[in-house]
Amino acid sequence: MSETATSQLSESTSRLAAALRAQGFVGRVVEPAQDGYDGARACWNGAVDRRPAAVVFASDPDDVAAAISAARAENVPFTVRAGSHSVSGRSMRDGAICIDIRGLNSVEVDPATAIVRVGGGALLSEMDAATQQHGLAVPGGQISHTGVGGLTLGGGVGWLMRNHGLTIDSLEAVEVVLADGRKVRASETDHQDLFWALRGGGGDFAAVTTFEFRAHAVGPMILGGMMVYPWDAAPAAFRAVRDLMEGAPAELTTFVTLITAPPAEPFPPEVQGGPVLAVATAWSGDLAEGERVVDALRSKCRPAVDLIAPMPYVALQGMLDHTAPHGWSFYDRAHYLTKVSDEFIETLLKGFEEASTPHSHVMTGWMGGAIDKVEPGATAFGHRGANALTWLIGCSGDEPIGPAADWVRGLWERTAPFADEGVYVNALDSGRSVREAYADGIWERLVEIKHRYDPDGVFAGNGIG
Ligand SMILES: Cc1cc2nc3c(=O)[nH]c(=O)nc-3n(C[C@H](O)[C@H](O)[C@H](O)COP(=O)(O)OP(=O)(O)OC[C@H]3O[C@@H](n4cnc5c(N)ncnc54)[C@H](O)[C@@H]3O)c2cc1C
Repeated sequence: MSETATSQLSESTSRLAAALRAQGFVGRVVEPAQDGYDGARACWNGAVDRRPAAVVFASDPDDVAAAISAARAENVPFTVRAGSHSVSGRSMRDGAICIDIRGLNSVEVDPATAIVRVGGGALLSEMDAATQQHGLAVPGGQISHTGVGGLTLGGGVGWLMRNHGLTIDSLEAVEVVLADGRKVRASETDHQDLFWALRGGGGDFAAVTTFEFRAHAVGPMILGGMMVYPWDAAPAAFRAVRDLMEGAPAELTTFVTLITAPPAEPFPPEVQGGPVLAVATAWSGDLAEGERVVDALRSKCRPAVDLIAPMPYVALQGMLDHTAPHGWSFYDRAHYLTKVSDEFIETLLKGFEEASTPHSHVMTGWMGGAIDKVEPGATAFGHRGANALTWLIGCSGDEPIGPAADWVRGLWERTAPFADEGVYVNALDSGRSVREAYADGIWERLVEIKHRYDPDGVFAGNGIG
Protein backbone atom coordinates (compact mmCIF):
# COMPACT_ATOMS: atom_id res chain seq x y z
CA MET A 1 0.00 0.00 0.00
CA SER A 2 1.42 3.44 -0.91
CA GLU A 3 2.15 6.05 1.75
CA THR A 4 -0.68 8.26 0.45
CA ALA A 5 -3.14 5.37 0.61
CA THR A 6 -2.02 4.53 4.16
CA SER A 7 -2.50 8.11 5.35
CA GLN A 8 -5.94 8.26 3.65
CA LEU A 9 -6.92 5.07 5.43
CA SER A 10 -5.90 6.35 8.87
CA GLU A 11 -7.59 9.70 8.20
CA SER A 12 -10.86 8.14 7.10
CA THR A 13 -10.92 5.58 9.93
CA SER A 14 -10.38 8.17 12.64
CA ARG A 15 -13.00 10.41 11.03
CA LEU A 16 -15.34 7.45 11.15
CA ALA A 17 -14.84 6.92 14.87
CA ALA A 18 -15.50 10.63 15.48
CA ALA A 19 -18.63 10.48 13.32
CA LEU A 20 -19.91 7.46 15.26
CA ARG A 21 -19.43 9.20 18.60
CA ALA A 22 -20.99 12.39 17.22
CA GLN A 23 -24.13 10.40 16.41
CA GLY A 24 -24.18 9.00 19.95
CA PHE A 25 -22.78 5.53 19.27
CA VAL A 26 -21.61 4.10 22.61
CA GLY A 27 -20.49 0.57 21.67
CA ARG A 28 -16.97 -0.66 20.86
CA VAL A 29 -15.44 0.51 17.57
CA VAL A 30 -12.63 -1.56 16.05
CA GLU A 31 -10.74 -0.11 13.10
CA PRO A 32 -8.00 -1.63 10.92
CA ALA A 33 -5.06 -0.19 12.81
CA GLN A 34 -6.32 -1.40 16.19
CA ASP A 35 -5.54 -4.55 18.15
CA GLY A 36 -8.42 -6.95 17.87
CA TYR A 37 -9.27 -6.00 14.28
CA ASP A 38 -8.57 -9.50 12.93
CA GLY A 39 -10.69 -11.10 15.62
CA ALA A 40 -13.51 -8.60 15.08
CA ARG A 41 -13.63 -9.15 11.31
CA ALA A 42 -13.35 -12.96 11.51
CA CYS A 43 -16.37 -14.69 10.01
CA TRP A 44 -17.78 -18.08 10.98
CA ASN A 45 -16.60 -19.29 7.55
CA GLY A 46 -12.82 -19.24 7.67
CA ALA A 47 -12.72 -19.05 3.86
CA VAL A 48 -14.17 -15.51 4.01
CA ASP A 49 -11.39 -12.96 4.52
CA ARG A 50 -12.69 -9.39 4.24
CA ARG A 51 -11.33 -6.08 5.48
CA PRO A 52 -14.16 -3.80 6.63
CA ALA A 53 -13.63 -0.09 7.33
CA ALA A 54 -14.60 -0.85 10.93
CA VAL A 55 -16.51 -3.36 13.03
CA VAL A 56 -18.81 -1.59 15.46
CA PHE A 57 -20.50 -3.46 18.28
CA ALA A 58 -23.98 -2.07 18.93
CA SER A 59 -25.43 -2.52 22.39
CA ASP A 60 -29.06 -1.50 21.78
CA PRO A 61 -31.39 -0.19 19.04
CA ASP A 62 -30.23 3.41 19.63
CA ASP A 63 -26.68 2.29 18.92
CA VAL A 64 -27.82 0.59 15.70
CA ALA A 65 -29.54 3.83 14.64
CA ALA A 66 -26.44 5.88 15.53
CA ALA A 67 -24.18 3.56 13.51
CA ILE A 68 -26.46 3.80 10.49
CA SER A 69 -26.58 7.60 10.73
CA ALA A 70 -22.79 7.82 11.02
CA ALA A 71 -22.25 5.51 8.07
CA ARG A 72 -24.60 7.64 6.00
CA ALA A 73 -22.99 10.89 7.09
CA GLU A 74 -19.58 9.52 6.09
CA ASN A 75 -20.95 7.92 2.91
CA VAL A 76 -19.60 4.50 3.84
CA PRO A 77 -21.69 1.38 3.03
CA PHE A 78 -22.51 -0.97 5.89
CA THR A 79 -23.63 -4.48 6.66
CA VAL A 80 -25.44 -5.91 9.69
CA ARG A 81 -23.99 -9.00 11.40
CA ALA A 82 -25.82 -11.30 13.81
CA GLY A 83 -24.60 -14.93 13.97
CA SER A 84 -22.00 -14.46 11.18
CA HIS A 85 -23.08 -17.75 9.60
CA SER A 86 -23.60 -16.47 6.09
CA VAL A 87 -21.44 -18.97 4.21
CA SER A 88 -20.71 -16.44 1.48
CA GLY A 89 -19.96 -13.75 4.08
CA ARG A 90 -22.88 -11.41 3.34
CA SER A 91 -22.50 -9.72 6.72
CA MET A 92 -18.91 -8.60 6.06
CA ARG A 93 -17.76 -6.47 3.14
CA ASP A 94 -14.42 -4.97 2.17
CA GLY A 95 -14.42 -1.25 2.95
CA ALA A 96 -17.86 -1.25 4.61
CA ILE A 97 -18.81 -0.77 8.26
CA CYS A 98 -19.94 -4.04 9.86
CA ILE A 99 -22.60 -3.27 12.48
CA ASP A 100 -22.38 -6.24 14.83
CA ILE A 101 -25.64 -6.71 16.74
CA ARG A 102 -24.75 -9.83 18.77
CA GLY A 103 -25.16 -7.66 21.88
CA LEU A 104 -28.90 -7.48 21.20
CA ASN A 105 -29.50 -11.06 22.28
CA SER A 106 -32.19 -10.93 24.95
CA VAL A 107 -35.06 -13.42 24.75
CA GLU A 108 -38.32 -12.68 26.58
CA VAL A 109 -41.02 -15.35 26.71
CA ASP A 110 -44.62 -14.69 27.69
CA PRO A 111 -45.92 -18.19 28.53
CA ALA A 112 -49.52 -16.96 28.67
CA THR A 113 -49.59 -15.80 25.04
CA ALA A 114 -46.64 -17.88 23.71
CA ILE A 115 -45.22 -14.63 22.30
CA VAL A 116 -41.42 -14.59 22.29
CA ARG A 117 -39.42 -11.40 21.78
CA VAL A 118 -35.95 -12.20 20.48
CA GLY A 119 -33.13 -9.69 20.06
CA GLY A 120 -31.93 -9.28 16.47
CA GLY A 121 -28.48 -10.61 17.39
CA ALA A 122 -29.52 -13.72 19.33
CA LEU A 123 -28.39 -17.21 18.40
CA LEU A 124 -30.77 -20.14 17.99
CA SER A 125 -29.29 -21.73 21.15
CA GLU A 126 -30.24 -18.64 23.17
CA MET A 127 -33.79 -18.63 21.79
CA ASP A 128 -34.23 -22.38 22.33
CA ALA A 129 -32.89 -22.31 25.90
CA ALA A 130 -35.39 -19.60 26.90
CA THR A 131 -38.45 -20.99 25.10
CA GLN A 132 -37.90 -24.57 26.27
CA GLN A 133 -38.15 -23.45 29.89
CA HIS A 134 -41.85 -23.05 29.10
CA GLY A 135 -42.22 -26.10 26.83
CA LEU A 136 -42.28 -23.83 23.78
CA ALA A 137 -40.21 -23.58 20.61
CA VAL A 138 -39.90 -21.37 17.55
CA PRO A 139 -38.93 -23.35 14.43
CA GLY A 140 -35.21 -22.79 13.86
CA GLY A 141 -32.41 -24.41 11.89
CA GLN A 142 -30.09 -27.30 12.50
CA ILE A 143 -26.98 -25.73 14.01
CA SER A 144 -27.64 -23.95 17.27
CA HIS A 145 -24.93 -21.30 16.87
CA THR A 146 -26.66 -19.89 13.76
CA GLY A 147 -28.08 -16.37 14.16
CA VAL A 148 -31.86 -16.03 14.50
CA GLY A 149 -31.43 -12.87 12.38
CA GLY A 150 -30.07 -14.17 9.09
CA LEU A 151 -31.89 -17.49 9.32
CA THR A 152 -35.28 -15.82 9.81
CA LEU A 153 -34.80 -13.14 7.16
CA GLY A 154 -34.12 -15.83 4.55
CA GLY A 155 -37.02 -18.08 5.61
CA GLY A 156 -35.68 -20.64 8.09
CA VAL A 157 -35.79 -24.38 7.40
CA GLY A 158 -35.21 -26.86 10.21
CA TRP A 159 -36.43 -29.74 12.33
CA LEU A 160 -39.91 -28.34 12.99
CA MET A 161 -40.67 -27.01 9.51
CA ARG A 162 -43.13 -29.71 8.42
CA ASN A 163 -45.06 -29.53 11.68
CA HIS A 164 -44.93 -25.79 12.41
CA GLY A 165 -43.72 -24.17 9.19
CA LEU A 166 -40.69 -22.08 8.33
CA THR A 167 -39.30 -19.74 10.97
CA ILE A 168 -40.97 -16.79 9.21
CA ASP A 169 -44.36 -18.52 9.47
CA SER A 170 -44.23 -17.97 13.23
CA LEU A 171 -43.15 -14.33 12.93
CA GLU A 172 -45.80 -11.91 14.21
CA ALA A 173 -43.90 -8.61 14.06
CA VAL A 174 -40.47 -7.02 14.00
CA GLU A 175 -38.95 -3.85 15.40
CA VAL A 176 -36.44 -2.36 12.98
CA VAL A 177 -34.15 0.57 12.35
CA LEU A 178 -34.74 1.87 8.84
CA ALA A 179 -32.14 3.24 6.44
CA ASP A 180 -33.06 6.79 7.48
CA GLY A 181 -32.45 5.94 11.15
CA ARG A 182 -36.15 5.78 12.14
CA LYS A 183 -37.25 2.99 14.50
CA VAL A 184 -40.53 1.39 13.47
CA ARG A 185 -42.59 -1.76 14.01
CA ALA A 186 -43.61 -3.88 11.02
CA SER A 187 -46.37 -6.50 11.08
CA GLU A 188 -49.49 -7.52 9.17
CA THR A 189 -50.93 -4.13 10.19
CA ASP A 190 -47.90 -1.78 10.28
CA HIS A 191 -45.54 -1.32 7.33
CA GLN A 192 -47.08 -4.45 5.78
CA ASP A 193 -44.89 -4.36 2.67
CA LEU A 194 -41.73 -4.22 4.70
CA PHE A 195 -42.98 -7.10 6.88
CA TRP A 196 -43.67 -9.11 3.73
CA ALA A 197 -40.16 -8.45 2.39
CA LEU A 198 -38.45 -9.31 5.66
CA ARG A 199 -40.08 -12.75 5.63
CA GLY A 200 -37.78 -14.45 3.13
CA GLY A 201 -36.30 -11.49 1.25
CA GLY A 202 -32.93 -11.59 3.01
CA GLY A 203 -31.49 -8.89 5.21
CA ASP A 204 -31.19 -5.79 3.06
CA PHE A 205 -34.28 -3.79 3.96
CA ALA A 206 -33.76 -2.71 7.57
CA ALA A 207 -31.86 -3.73 10.69
CA VAL A 208 -34.13 -5.92 12.79
CA THR A 209 -33.56 -5.21 16.47
CA THR A 210 -36.39 -7.47 17.76
CA PHE A 211 -38.18 -10.44 16.24
CA GLU A 212 -41.56 -11.20 17.79
CA PHE A 213 -42.58 -14.83 17.29
CA ARG A 214 -45.60 -16.91 18.28
CA ALA A 215 -44.07 -20.11 19.68
CA HIS A 216 -45.48 -23.65 19.63
CA ALA A 217 -45.78 -26.33 22.29
CA VAL A 218 -42.81 -28.63 21.65
CA GLY A 219 -41.00 -31.11 23.87
CA PRO A 220 -39.27 -30.92 26.18
CA MET A 221 -38.68 -34.48 24.88
CA ILE A 222 -38.89 -35.26 21.19
CA LEU A 223 -37.86 -38.35 19.24
CA GLY A 224 -34.65 -37.66 17.38
CA GLY A 225 -31.21 -38.77 16.34
CA MET A 226 -29.97 -40.71 13.37
CA MET A 227 -29.78 -44.12 11.76
CA VAL A 228 -26.64 -44.93 9.80
CA TYR A 229 -26.44 -47.21 6.77
CA PRO A 230 -23.31 -48.67 5.16
CA TRP A 231 -22.63 -47.45 1.64
CA ASP A 232 -23.80 -50.62 -0.14
CA ALA A 233 -27.21 -50.16 1.52
CA ALA A 234 -27.34 -46.42 0.74
CA PRO A 235 -29.44 -46.54 -2.48
CA ALA A 236 -32.13 -48.71 -0.87
CA ALA A 237 -32.13 -46.65 2.34
CA PHE A 238 -32.39 -43.34 0.42
CA ARG A 239 -35.33 -44.68 -1.60
CA ALA A 240 -37.01 -46.07 1.53
CA VAL A 241 -36.82 -42.68 3.25
CA ARG A 242 -38.13 -40.99 0.10
CA ASP A 243 -41.09 -43.40 0.00
CA LEU A 244 -41.78 -42.95 3.71
CA MET A 245 -41.72 -39.16 3.39
CA GLU A 246 -44.22 -39.15 0.48
CA GLY A 247 -47.08 -39.79 2.92
CA ALA A 248 -45.44 -39.09 6.27
CA PRO A 249 -47.21 -37.21 9.06
CA ALA A 250 -46.11 -33.58 9.39
CA GLU A 251 -44.54 -34.29 12.78
CA LEU A 252 -41.76 -36.18 10.99
CA THR A 253 -38.81 -34.34 9.45
CA THR A 254 -35.88 -36.24 7.96
CA PHE A 255 -32.63 -35.23 6.34
CA VAL A 256 -30.80 -37.93 4.43
CA THR A 257 -27.19 -36.99 5.02
CA LEU A 258 -24.19 -38.34 3.13
CA ILE A 259 -21.06 -38.17 5.25
CA THR A 260 -17.69 -39.82 5.64
CA ALA A 261 -17.87 -41.92 8.80
CA PRO A 262 -15.36 -40.66 11.36
CA PRO A 263 -12.85 -43.17 12.79
CA ALA A 264 -14.64 -43.48 16.12
CA GLU A 265 -17.58 -44.98 17.99
CA PRO A 266 -20.52 -45.33 17.41
CA PHE A 267 -19.53 -46.08 13.81
CA PRO A 268 -18.55 -49.78 13.47
CA PRO A 269 -14.93 -50.34 12.31
CA GLU A 270 -16.02 -51.67 8.91
CA VAL A 271 -17.62 -48.33 7.88
CA GLN A 272 -15.13 -45.94 9.51
CA GLY A 273 -13.35 -43.66 7.04
CA GLY A 274 -15.75 -44.51 4.20
CA PRO A 275 -18.98 -42.93 2.92
CA VAL A 276 -22.17 -43.71 4.85
CA LEU A 277 -25.77 -42.57 4.66
CA ALA A 278 -27.25 -41.15 7.86
CA VAL A 279 -30.97 -40.53 8.24
CA ALA A 280 -31.14 -37.58 10.64
CA THR A 281 -34.62 -37.52 12.10
CA ALA A 282 -36.89 -35.47 14.33
CA TRP A 283 -40.42 -36.38 15.40
CA SER A 284 -42.12 -33.53 17.23
CA GLY A 285 -45.41 -35.23 18.14
CA ASP A 286 -46.56 -38.01 20.48
CA LEU A 287 -43.48 -40.13 21.25
CA ALA A 288 -45.16 -43.57 20.98
CA GLU A 289 -46.70 -42.63 17.64
CA GLY A 290 -43.27 -41.43 16.47
CA GLU A 291 -41.69 -44.78 17.41
CA ARG A 292 -44.29 -46.54 15.24
CA VAL A 293 -43.55 -44.29 12.26
CA VAL A 294 -39.77 -44.68 12.59
CA ASP A 295 -40.19 -48.47 13.05
CA ALA A 296 -41.67 -48.62 9.56
CA LEU A 297 -38.31 -47.43 8.22
CA ARG A 298 -36.30 -49.65 10.56
CA SER A 299 -38.16 -52.75 9.43
CA LYS A 300 -37.83 -51.89 5.75
CA CYS A 301 -34.13 -51.08 5.95
CA ARG A 302 -32.06 -52.25 8.89
CA PRO A 303 -29.44 -49.63 9.93
CA ALA A 304 -25.86 -50.47 11.00
CA VAL A 305 -26.19 -47.94 13.82
CA ASP A 306 -29.48 -46.82 15.34
CA LEU A 307 -29.27 -43.70 17.50
CA ILE A 308 -32.90 -42.60 17.32
CA ALA A 309 -34.31 -42.21 20.82
CA PRO A 310 -36.27 -39.75 22.94
CA MET A 311 -34.08 -36.72 23.64
CA PRO A 312 -34.55 -33.14 24.87
CA TYR A 313 -35.46 -30.73 22.06
CA VAL A 314 -32.44 -28.57 22.92
CA ALA A 315 -30.17 -31.61 22.51
CA LEU A 316 -31.58 -32.19 19.03
CA GLN A 317 -30.96 -28.53 18.18
CA GLY A 318 -27.28 -28.90 19.11
CA MET A 319 -26.83 -32.45 17.81
CA LEU A 320 -24.94 -31.38 14.67
CA ASP A 321 -23.07 -28.35 16.07
CA HIS A 322 -19.72 -30.16 16.05
CA THR A 323 -19.93 -30.52 12.24
CA ALA A 324 -19.75 -26.75 11.76
CA PRO A 325 -17.11 -25.21 14.02
CA HIS A 326 -16.20 -21.52 13.72
CA GLY A 327 -13.17 -20.85 11.55
CA TRP A 328 -13.24 -23.90 9.28
CA SER A 329 -13.54 -23.23 5.54
CA PHE A 330 -16.87 -23.94 3.85
CA TYR A 331 -18.57 -23.50 0.48
CA ASP A 332 -22.18 -24.44 -0.23
CA ARG A 333 -24.86 -24.63 -2.89
CA ALA A 334 -28.41 -25.95 -2.80
CA HIS A 335 -31.24 -27.16 -5.02
CA TYR A 336 -34.98 -27.31 -4.53
CA LEU A 337 -36.56 -30.48 -5.90
CA THR A 338 -40.14 -31.26 -6.95
CA LYS A 339 -39.32 -34.95 -6.85
CA VAL A 340 -36.54 -37.06 -5.35
CA SER A 341 -36.23 -39.47 -8.29
CA ASP A 342 -34.23 -42.70 -8.43
CA GLU A 343 -31.98 -41.05 -11.03
CA PHE A 344 -31.33 -38.09 -8.74
CA ILE A 345 -30.46 -40.43 -5.86
CA GLU A 346 -28.07 -42.38 -8.07
CA THR A 347 -26.34 -39.21 -9.31
CA LEU A 348 -26.03 -37.76 -5.82
CA LEU A 349 -24.58 -40.95 -4.33
CA LYS A 350 -22.09 -41.35 -7.15
CA GLY A 351 -21.08 -37.70 -6.82
CA PHE A 352 -20.57 -38.03 -3.09
CA GLU A 353 -18.05 -40.82 -3.67
CA GLU A 354 -15.87 -38.14 -5.29
CA ALA A 355 -16.04 -35.73 -2.32
CA SER A 356 -12.59 -34.26 -2.01
CA THR A 357 -12.48 -33.84 1.78
CA PRO A 358 -13.74 -35.95 4.72
CA HIS A 359 -15.86 -33.16 6.25
CA SER A 360 -17.79 -32.36 3.08
CA HIS A 361 -21.36 -33.61 3.21
CA VAL A 362 -24.74 -33.51 1.46
CA MET A 363 -28.15 -33.13 3.12
CA THR A 364 -31.51 -33.78 1.49
CA GLY A 365 -34.49 -32.75 3.61
CA TRP A 366 -38.16 -33.14 2.82
CA MET A 367 -40.31 -30.03 2.99
CA GLY A 368 -44.11 -29.89 2.61
CA GLY A 369 -46.49 -30.16 5.55
CA ALA A 370 -47.09 -26.83 7.30
CA ILE A 371 -44.82 -24.98 4.86
CA ASP A 372 -47.39 -25.48 2.12
CA LYS A 373 -50.30 -24.25 4.23
CA VAL A 374 -49.13 -20.66 3.63
CA GLU A 375 -50.07 -19.15 0.25
CA PRO A 376 -47.04 -19.00 -2.12
CA GLY A 377 -47.03 -15.18 -2.42
CA ALA A 378 -47.97 -14.43 1.20
CA THR A 379 -44.32 -13.94 2.17
CA ALA A 380 -41.20 -13.21 0.13
CA PHE A 381 -40.00 -16.81 0.59
CA GLY A 382 -40.66 -18.03 -2.89
CA HIS A 383 -40.40 -21.81 -2.72
CA ARG A 384 -43.55 -23.13 -1.10
CA GLY A 385 -44.50 -26.36 -2.80
CA ALA A 386 -40.96 -27.70 -3.11
CA ASN A 387 -40.82 -31.39 -2.23
CA ALA A 388 -37.26 -31.33 -0.90
CA LEU A 389 -34.13 -29.25 -0.49
CA THR A 390 -30.67 -30.66 -1.20
CA TRP A 391 -27.74 -28.83 0.35
CA LEU A 392 -24.20 -29.56 -0.92
CA ILE A 393 -21.62 -28.52 1.66
CA GLY A 394 -17.91 -28.48 0.90
CA CYS A 395 -15.66 -28.24 3.94
CA SER A 396 -11.87 -28.25 4.00
CA GLY A 397 -11.23 -27.65 7.72
CA ASP A 398 -8.13 -25.46 8.05
CA GLU A 399 -7.04 -26.09 4.45
CA PRO A 400 -7.85 -23.87 1.43
CA ILE A 401 -11.42 -24.37 0.23
CA GLY A 402 -10.59 -24.60 -3.52
CA PRO A 403 -10.90 -28.38 -4.14
CA ALA A 404 -13.98 -28.74 -1.90
CA ALA A 405 -15.66 -25.76 -3.64
CA ASP A 406 -14.85 -27.29 -7.05
CA TRP A 407 -16.42 -30.55 -5.92
CA VAL A 408 -19.60 -28.73 -4.77
CA ARG A 409 -19.89 -26.81 -8.06
CA GLY A 410 -19.34 -30.00 -10.10
CA LEU A 411 -21.97 -31.99 -8.20
CA TRP A 412 -24.37 -29.04 -8.26
CA GLU A 413 -24.12 -28.95 -12.07
CA ARG A 414 -24.59 -32.72 -12.39
CA THR A 415 -27.70 -32.63 -10.21
CA ALA A 416 -29.13 -29.43 -11.76
CA PRO A 417 -31.20 -31.33 -14.37
CA PHE A 418 -33.26 -32.82 -11.50
CA ALA A 419 -33.79 -29.49 -9.72
CA ASP A 420 -36.39 -26.71 -9.76
CA GLU A 421 -35.51 -23.18 -10.67
CA GLY A 422 -34.42 -20.92 -7.87
CA VAL A 423 -32.22 -21.21 -4.84
CA TYR A 424 -32.66 -20.70 -1.12
CA VAL A 425 -31.32 -17.18 -0.43
CA ASN A 426 -29.60 -18.51 2.71
CA ALA A 427 -27.59 -20.92 0.54
CA LEU A 428 -26.61 -18.42 -2.14
CA ASP A 429 -22.89 -18.50 -2.81
CA SER A 430 -21.08 -15.25 -3.50
CA GLY A 431 -20.55 -15.98 -7.19
CA ARG A 432 -24.29 -15.92 -7.90
CA SER A 433 -26.82 -13.11 -8.10
CA VAL A 434 -29.55 -12.74 -5.50
CA ARG A 435 -31.94 -12.43 -8.48
CA GLU A 436 -31.63 -16.24 -8.86
CA ALA A 437 -33.23 -16.74 -5.45
CA TYR A 438 -36.60 -15.25 -6.41
CA ALA A 439 -39.27 -16.01 -8.97
CA ASP A 440 -40.71 -13.30 -11.21
CA GLY A 441 -43.33 -11.32 -9.32
CA ILE A 442 -41.68 -11.77 -5.93
CA TRP A 443 -38.44 -10.24 -7.25
CA GLU A 444 -40.12 -7.12 -8.68
CA ARG A 445 -42.03 -6.56 -5.44
CA LEU A 446 -38.83 -6.93 -3.41
CA VAL A 447 -37.03 -4.39 -5.60
CA GLU A 448 -39.90 -1.92 -5.31
CA ILE A 449 -39.96 -2.23 -1.50
CA LYS A 450 -36.16 -1.95 -1.35
CA HIS A 451 -36.29 1.31 -3.33
CA ARG A 452 -39.00 2.66 -1.06
CA TYR A 453 -37.37 1.78 2.28
CA ASP A 454 -33.71 2.09 1.28
CA PRO A 455 -33.64 4.42 -1.76
CA ASP A 456 -29.89 4.99 -1.52
CA GLY A 457 -29.11 1.28 -1.16
CA VAL A 458 -27.19 1.70 2.08
CA PHE A 459 -27.97 -1.81 3.37
CA ALA A 460 -25.36 -3.55 1.30
CA GLY A 461 -25.22 -7.25 2.14
CA ASN A 462 -27.30 -9.06 -0.49
CA GLY A 463 -27.36 -6.88 -3.54
CA ILE A 464 -31.14 -6.43 -3.91
CA GLY A 465 -31.98 -3.20 -5.69
C1 LIG B 1 -23.47 -24.32 9.76
C2 LIG B 1 -24.69 -23.70 9.16
C3 LIG B 1 -25.91 -24.34 9.30
C4 LIG B 1 -27.05 -23.78 8.75
N1 LIG B 1 -28.23 -24.42 8.90
C5 LIG B 1 -29.34 -23.85 8.42
C6 LIG B 1 -30.62 -24.46 8.63
O1 LIG B 1 -30.72 -25.52 9.24
N2 LIG B 1 -31.69 -23.84 8.13
C7 LIG B 1 -31.61 -22.67 7.45
O2 LIG B 1 -32.64 -22.15 7.05
N3 LIG B 1 -30.43 -22.08 7.23
C8 LIG B 1 -29.30 -22.65 7.70
N4 LIG B 1 -28.10 -22.05 7.46
C9 LIG B 1 -28.04 -20.85 6.65
C10 LIG B 1 -28.26 -19.66 7.56
O3 LIG B 1 -29.63 -19.53 7.79
C11 LIG B 1 -27.77 -18.41 6.86
O4 LIG B 1 -26.39 -18.50 6.63
C12 LIG B 1 -28.11 -17.16 7.69
O5 LIG B 1 -27.96 -16.06 6.87
C13 LIG B 1 -27.23 -17.05 8.91
O6 LIG B 1 -27.66 -16.00 9.72
P1 LIG B 1 -26.65 -15.32 10.74
O7 LIG B 1 -27.38 -14.26 11.43
O8 LIG B 1 -25.98 -16.38 11.55
O9 LIG B 1 -25.54 -14.76 9.74
P2 LIG B 1 -24.98 -13.32 9.42
O10 LIG B 1 -23.82 -13.61 8.53
O11 LIG B 1 -24.72 -12.52 10.61
O12 LIG B 1 -26.15 -12.64 8.59
C14 LIG B 1 -26.59 -13.18 7.37
C15 LIG B 1 -27.37 -12.11 6.59
O13 LIG B 1 -28.50 -11.69 7.34
C16 LIG B 1 -28.39 -10.30 7.66
N5 LIG B 1 -28.87 -10.12 9.03
C17 LIG B 1 -28.64 -10.93 10.08
N6 LIG B 1 -29.30 -10.50 11.15
C18 LIG B 1 -29.92 -9.37 10.78
C19 LIG B 1 -30.77 -8.46 11.47
N7 LIG B 1 -31.11 -8.63 12.76
N8 LIG B 1 -31.26 -7.40 10.78
C20 LIG B 1 -30.95 -7.23 9.47
N9 LIG B 1 -30.15 -8.06 8.77
C21 LIG B 1 -29.65 -9.12 9.43
C22 LIG B 1 -26.94 -9.95 7.46
O14 LIG B 1 -26.77 -8.59 7.14
C23 LIG B 1 -26.56 -10.86 6.31
O15 LIG B 1 -26.98 -10.31 5.07
C24 LIG B 1 -26.96 -22.58 8.02
C25 LIG B 1 -25.72 -21.96 7.86
C26 LIG B 1 -24.61 -22.51 8.42
C27 LIG B 1 -23.30 -21.85 8.23
